[in-house]
Amino acid sequence: MTPESIVIAGAGLAGATAARTLRSEGYAGNITIAGTEPHPPYLRPPLSKEYLLGKAGEDAVEVVPESWYAANNVRLRLDTPVASVDPAAHTVRFADGTVQGYGALLLAPGATPRTLPLSGADLDGVSTFRTLDDSRRLRDQLASGGRNLVLIGSGWIGMELAAAASTYGNQVTLLGLEDIPLAAAVGPELGSFFRTLHEDNGVRFRLPASAREITGQNRRVTGVVTNTGELLPADIVVIAVGVVPETALAAAAGLEVRNGILTDASLRTSAPDIFAAGDAANALHPFTGEHHRSEHWSNALNGGKVAARAMLGQDVALDTVPYFYTDQFDVSMEYSGFPSLAAKTAPVIRGSLDSKEFVAFWQQDGRVVAGMSVNWPRSVKPSAQKTIKTLISARAEVPAERLADQTVPLDQLIPVTS
Ligand SMILES: Cc1cc2nc3c(=O)[nH]c(=O)nc-3n(C[C@H](O)[C@H](O)[C@H](O)COP(=O)(O)OP(=O)(O)OC[C@H]3O[C@@H](n4cnc5c(N)ncnc54)[C@H](O)[C@@H]3O)c2cc1C
Repeated sequence: MTPESIVIAGAGLAGATAARTLRSEGYAGNITIAGTEPHPPYLRPPLSKEYLLGKAGEDAVEVVPESWYAANNVRLRLDTPVASVDPAAHTVRFADGTVQGYGALLLAPGATPRTLPLSGADLDGVSTFRTLDDSRRLRDQLASGGRNLVLIGSGWIGMELAAAASTYGNQVTLLGLEDIPLAAAVGPELGSFFRTLHEDNGVRFRLPASAREITGQNRRVTGVVTNTGELLPADIVVIAVGVVPETALAAAAGLEVRNGILTDASLRTSAPDIFAAGDAANALHPFTGEHHRSEHWSNALNGGKVAARAMLGQDVALDTVPYFYTDQFDVSMEYSGFPSLAAKTAPVIRGSLDSKEFVAFWQQDGRVVAGMSVNWPRSVKPSAQKTIKTLISARAEVPAERLADQTVPLDQLIPVTS
């Protein structure tokens, strides 16, 4: 049964992609997208990379041009979050008090940056980083160089901000709780690769270290005191210590919530006609048989598509191999696979870390479960990422020596099926 009307709570990538997919699938009913922010849906990856660096403008961050919504009869309610959901009545109440019925509801509210209960965290010049407005503000602060930036958190966002700030000629210091940045995501060997990349470009690390206090004068930040008592001078501090999935709306409506809004593989939640996608959803993945919550662009994109088709009653599943990418200094990295399966195993490297051109494979019981390509030539088809995804999906067993052997072309690693 096709729903008469669809409400999408969350004007981000997952929400906008769902709306586009609904229309491209021929859905003619009412679509309303509600968002908390004043901007039409935009892409976040450029915010810490090319947009922050001034290499890309506003049009590069739009999911679709703003005119698309009116042209496709999609009602955008910006600055108007969904405040509550009544699953039994099939209604939502918006923050302005209006109530609207839905045939199907998509929850795509994303995630919110974690904060730290530090003295001084409310000083001017201290912020988290997630939105277009955050990126605009930081760009204004960093673009002329010569500032001291302290980043609390050495995950992907912290590392990307460090690269952009350092490229602008600012002095950057990164604090993190782990011994090696990104080690939890890609292991110690590749985490060290990223650390060296940053140090070669002048970024300083304090690892492992935590922030004890943020100091200030006249309400403006002046520094960060670490747990060892070191005072790091700072004109700008960004707290980049991860995000929390937005689950309050779902929880208040009585939906099952566990590290995100729990869904099946077709992104159905525990409530009838309510679906969830993007950073907020913890979806069952057919490949592993486990729930995965992914905070990456491709998950929001593919999740938006799958949720739209599921809302139209199609038999679909979010079964793509997870993928993400990062750009830092002269390194372009892409990763496909399941970090939870790759954790604790050492990667097999094809190429050399020193040349900054390599592919890393992670295996479990001889099967490839994840792979990362760094600066790997895109002209060669199929691409490294396509090969990695094919190997993972095929649950292919490939000897480690063959994975590492550069005389064997990448695409020849894929087993031939008869
Ligand atoms: C700076 C930055 C850089 C990134 N770089 C990369 C990268 O290089 N590669 C990669 O793969 N991924 C990257 N990501 C992650 C990627 O951008 C996210 O996974 C993606 O944006 C998630 O999309 P979403 O639609 O689920 O959520 P969001 O983009 O967060 O959109 C959700 C929207 O819903 C709104 N909302 C919240 N509650 C409500 C409510 N009750 N009602 C209505 N609206 C609500 C939120 O305010 C938000 O605007 C990056 C993220 C950030 C922040």
